[in-house]
Amino acid sequence: MQRGLGDLDELYQDVLLDHYRNPRRTRRLESPDAEVDAINPFCGDEIHLQLLMGDGRVSKISVTGQGCSISQAAGSLLAEIVDGKTPDEARELRELFRGLMTGEELTDEQADRLEDNLALQGVRRFPVRIKCALLSWSALSDALDKVSPAG
Ligand code: ZN
Repeated sequence: MQRGLGDLDELYQDVLLDHYRNPRRTRRLESPDAEVDAINPFCGDEIHLQLLMGDGRVSKISVTGQGCSISQAAGSLLAEIVDGKTPDEARELRELFRGLMTGEELTDEQADRLEDNLALQGVRRFPVRIKCALLSWSALSDALDKVSPAG
């Protein structure tokens, strides 16, 4: 783990480390419906996100990149939870995740919907790292706007 994160709960550290070392859904898509690159200049993180839509849902997602453990684990966790979701559902998750990062109180039901992404909640105690955790969600948001313009 990165310096400064030593007091994250051990269980959460395990989840993050696992996603960092074995990121999910990293297989590049041949002909994605949307493709976005995002960069966090504060930390040097890079995320490349691809979406393939089918039946109004995310039928395939690929997230690759390089950078700190938080940014890369967050990308992997995002890819897992967004797979199979509709754009509206994915946007709701993004709002919940942003809330988690900015210290909003989530209901138990809201927290449950974030599944393993809750492992990142300790990051909010390190404001400089919040951008790392949100980077792939911002890429997702741009990608969703391309396949399904909001509102
Ligand atoms: Zn970072």
